[in-house]
This record gives sequence, C-alpha cells and structure tokens, in this order.
Amino acid sequence: MLGGRTVSDPTKLPSPAGLHPRTIRGPDDAALHELCARLGSASCRHDAERWPAAELDLCAAYGVFEWFVDPEWGGQGWCDDSVLRAYLELSAACLTTAFVITQRTGACRRIAKSGNDWAQSQLLPGLARGESFATVGISHLTTSRRHLKEPVLRARPCDIGFVLDGYSPWVTGAAHADVIVTGATLADGRQLLIAVPTKAPGLSVGERYPLVGLAGSDTAELRFSGVEVDRAWLLAGPSANVMRQGVGARTGGLQTTTLALGLLTSILRFLEAEGARRSDVRAVAESFASEREDLLRGLLAAAAGEHGPAPTELRLRANDLVLRAATAALLSAKGAGYVEGHPAARWLREAHFFLVWSLPPAVAEVSLARLIRPPEG
Ligand SMILES: Cc1cc2nc3c(=O)[nH]c(=O)nc-3n(C[C@H](O)[C@H](O)[C@H](O)COP(=O)(O)OP(=O)(O)OC[C@H]3O[C@@H](n4cnc5c(N)ncnc54)[C@H](O)[C@@H]3O)c2cc1C
Repeated sequence: MLGGRTVSDPTKLPSPAGLHPRTIRGPDDAALHELCARLGSASCRHDAERWPAAELDLCAAYGVFEWFVDPEWGGQGWCDDSVLRAYLELSAACLTTAFVITQRTGACRRIAKSGNDWAQSQLLPGLARGESFATVGISHLTTSRRHLKEPVLRARPCDIGFVLDGYSPWVTGAAHADVIVTGATLADGRQLLIAVPTKAPGLSVGERYPLVGLAGSDTAELRFSGVEVDRAWLLAGPSANVMRQGVGARTGGLQTTTLALGLLTSILRFLEAEGARRSDVRAVAESFASEREDLLRGLLAAAAGEHGPAPTELRLRANDLVLRAATAALLSAKGAGYVEGHPAARWLREAHFFLVWSLPPAVAEVSLARLIRPPEG
C-alpha cells in the first residue's frame, strides 16, 4: 500500500505469453502499442466503474510516468507533442486510465514548475517511478464555483505555513493519492498553490461521485478542516490569479482535446468495422476520419507552437465531432447499443464528459449558443 493506494498485479491484465513490460522511450516505440493493446483488451472487459489500479501499475511498469518528469528527477521529460501523440493512443485504449494520468500529470507539472527544489526532490522521483500517486484539486480556481461570492477553499497564515479550511469540489483519485496539489484563497484575495500530503490531520475525502461516465476515476470532494500545511510545500503565490502564472497555466489546454480525439478513435474503429458491411455507416465513418485527420494536424501544430487554429477552436471542434461520432455509433448499433454493456452506451456518456471537464467559460458560452437553431427562412 502507498498512501491509500492499493497496489495490484499488472500481470493480471491480458498479456501474450512471455511478454514483459519494457520502458517506452517515445511515441513511436513499439512498446507503447503493446501497452495500449493490453490496456484496450482490459478496458473492453471492464465496465469503467472500478478504479484502474492494474492499468496504472501496468503503465508504471512500462515507464509511462517518466514521460512527464525531467531527467534530473529520474524522468524522461518528453516534449509536448510527443506526450500528446502518446495520450492519443492511451485514451483510445482506455479513457479512464488516460484521464487519471492527466490529473496525476497535472500535479507533477505544477510541482516541477514551482521552483521549490525541496518539494520537487521529495515528490518527483517517486512519481516518476510510479511508486506514489498525486492528483489535482484546482478547478475551484478556474472552472468551478466561480459564481459564488466566497471562495470555497480558504487559507490563513500560521506559524508553520498555512491553515486550509473549506473544500475542493472535484479531485480525481483523491482516495488513492499520497499528495494533492490544490489552491486556496487568503482573506485579502490572493491565492496560493500548495502540495498537501494526504495524511495531514483534518483532511478527508468524500464519497466518490456516482458519475454517469468515467465513474472509475473515483472523483470526489476533498474537505479541509483546519489543515495545517508547512510552507515547505508551497508551490506558487500567494499572489493574485495564481493560475495565470506559469505554474498554474494550461487549464483546458490541448490535452483535453487530445483525449476527446482518443475517444473518437475508439468509436471510429467500431464505425469502420460496421461500415465494412453497411454503406451508410461507411460514409459517415469516412467523413469522421477525414475530420479527425484535419483536427489532429491542427492539434499537433498547436502543440509544436506552430501557426494553426486556437486551442479553444480545437476544443469546440473536437467536442462536436466526438459527440456526433458517439451518436452515429448508437444509430449504427440501434437498440443493442442502448443496452448497458454495449460500448455505444458507454461512448455516449464518455463523449459528454468533454462538455464538463476543464471547459473554459469561452468554450462553454459558444457551445451553448450553437445549440440555438437559427430561425427558418
Ligand atoms: C468526472 C470529473 C472529474 C474531474 N476531475 C477533476 C480533478 O481531478 N481536478 C480538478 O481540479 N477538477 C476536476 N474536475 C472539475 C472540472 O474540470 C470542472 O471544473 C467542473 O466540471 C465544473 O463543474 P461544476 O459543477 O463544479 O461548475 P460550477 O460552475 O460550480 O456549477 C455548479 C452549479 O452552480 C450553478 N451555476 C453555475 N454557474 C452559475 C452562474 N453563473 N450563476 C448561477 N449559478 C450558476 C449551476 O446550477 C451548476 O450546476 C472534474 C470534473 C468531472 C466531471
């Protein structure tokens, strides 16, 4: 056990005889395809309701967690576009596993960019090896509870650092974490980002939300009751709008769009298989595949810092495409797809996740406005 984490046996996941995980060195490494094949066959069997412990352990065995950490701390420090290409494959294989990894990585990135050498040395080597688990609870500084008059998580200075009171509404994998990166607001309105060890007295994890999709992400509310955190764990701030600084940046960024495209890939595989014997389904699969290629080009250009569509435009297009593809899967599967256990039913729920996860207000506004049918004539 690590923190609250149950260590499972990755060898329980499907594996051709004699296959031993080896460290993945890049997005074109054959070992990545091997890992995804193993994750994919496992996710076909499971109902996405359980925490993907075995899947995460398998990822650790293949060195996935090294991608996001610099060599200085034992990682491989992959560049953004390599990470996106690998996320595409992981999310096509198992969306829940890929999503949990993004939240874990969100924590790693904020620790790595903090400039806090001590916190980095304490946390990053174990995270790179996959021996510990970290996650983020920061949405209340970006996309959640922003309309409320009072901050939901408050901080006040104390002798050793800060005392936190309140809650963080959404924390994926909170019950499995050794450390949680969260944000809190001081009485004067300044904000801070801090790494909170989950064994801190006064910290408690709510029941996991009974989500309609990705329930296995074990997302829950995290409650703070007079939690004292040493200032040695401070990652950024106190300052105005701490999420606008480098350490907090990239909310609603390209990885969300990437995971939507990953889900699209798995839906497309189904549509293409159906299309092999049905011309109407084939036409729609071909059209979606060409839209996917176009979006992917834009996404990779954006990740490489080249000129291309803005991230919000990519997000809007990816959301729209994955929702249409999930609807097409249901239309193709017909009544069978409406029965619990058919992947079309799961894809419909998972596609709607992208309407709520880390959705920037500007994208939410446009998405809502686009639902209005223009008057005829
Ligand atoms: C499965 C899942 C996993 C997630 N994991 C994480 C995670 O690990 N870490 C993390 O930081 N975040 C996470 N998030 C949070 C996510 O990124 C968004 O922040 C979240 O979905 C926003 O939804 P909300 O209900 O909190 O929004 P809110 O804006 O708080 O809305 C809540 C309610 O308030 C009302 N409301 C909203 N806006 C207004 C308004 N302007 N005026 C009046 N009333 C209003 C509505 O009734 C709404 O239902 C996760 C979300 C989901 C669904």
